[in-house]
Amino acid sequence: MDFENRIISRENMMEDNDTEFSLRPKTLSEYIGQDKVKENLSIFIEAAKQRGESMDHVLLYGPPGLGKTTLSNIIANEMNVNIRITSGPAIEKQGDLAALLTNLSENDILFIDEIHRLNKSVEEVLYPAMEDYALDIIIGKGPSARSIRLDLPKFTLIGATTRAGQLSAPLRDRFGVILRLELYSPQQLTEIITRSAGILGIECDREGAVELARRSRGTPRIANRLLKRVRDFAQVMGNGVITEKIASVALDRLEIDKLGLDSIDIRVLETIIKNYGGGPVGIETLAAAIGEESVTLEDVCEPFLMQMGFLSRTPRGRCVTPLAYEHLGIKMENTNSEQLKFDFKE
Ligand code: ADP
Repeated sequence: MDFENRIISRENMMEDNDTEFSLRPKTLSEYIGQDKVKENLSIFIEAAKQRGESMDHVLLYGPPGLGKTTLSNIIANEMNVNIRITSGPAIEKQGDLAALLTNLSENDILFIDEIHRLNKSVEEVLYPAMEDYALDIIIGKGPSARSIRLDLPKFTLIGATTRAGQLSAPLRDRFGVILRLELYSPQQLTEIITRSAGILGIECDREGAVELARRSRGTPRIANRLLKRVRDFAQVMGNGVITEKIASVALDRLEIDKLGLDSIDIRVLETIIKNYGGGPVGIETLAAAIGEESVTLEDVCEPFLMQMGFLSRTPRGRCVTPLAYEHLGIKMENTNSEQLKFDFKE
């Protein structure tokens, strides 16, 4: 199973698109979890509304599928303004961004997903746009070239990225609000699954929802996807209702284990144990050994494996924890003394 087809891939997949719109919460009160982020945002939204101004630029960061796009749409909805959605790789030239910016109206929101993937020259156009609401345009070439400054409407930029550390410092510094989204707890995911089941008309009992939540690796996008896949099993193997038993059998068949680890997570852990004595091993070496991109491992596998306490990051590389050995049923033998030292320190 490659990453593109992983059922628990955090990236958006074609099959999500048909229901994505209906499942997206439209208001902050419908948005489950992320309480700290919601509290802060509701204050910023209220304050901007009272002043009749645009909101400060917002940077949302966290692993894919946690609700960054959803939250941006909610902000637009609550502020009662338009939102334009684009992504870093889609803006190839300075002119593309200039066209987007000049088409905005006062207080509108420009949402740039994967903002860390903007190229440098495009990023430079953003600096004066964010700071002074201005666009510097160079007219002509060579010695006769001159720069003119165009005023832009006061807009809000919302940037989304998987890791804030990937952003260049000048860009990061221009965001007034930086918010980090956390992986969701099983309780919150149970609530999300129950809500989605209601919207999609899927029958799912409480225990069924809890079982799905437990195996959704803290990510609403995965929870919704599992709900839709398991519905088919419920229809064919049972009477259409997702129960704990049906969810459990279906998820086993989909190769998602009791704690939500899929075959790639297991390969990561087993490779570190078998090839590198439990670690430490550098992320690039590990990625090459598994045949995946290091970015994917860092964004998709690691946050979850670390949250589960199966993996620790040390200055010298990644180490597998005793808990992971236990989960995989592998005896700890050639444990690297360095790993123990780090585990002990943490
Ligand atoms: P991101 O932009 O971070 O990759 P999205 O905003 O596209 O994630 O969210 C993925 C899906 O998860 C959405 O379709 C939405 O239905 C669901 N979702 C995300 N966050 C929540 C939440 N807090 N409550 C309910 N559903 C959510």
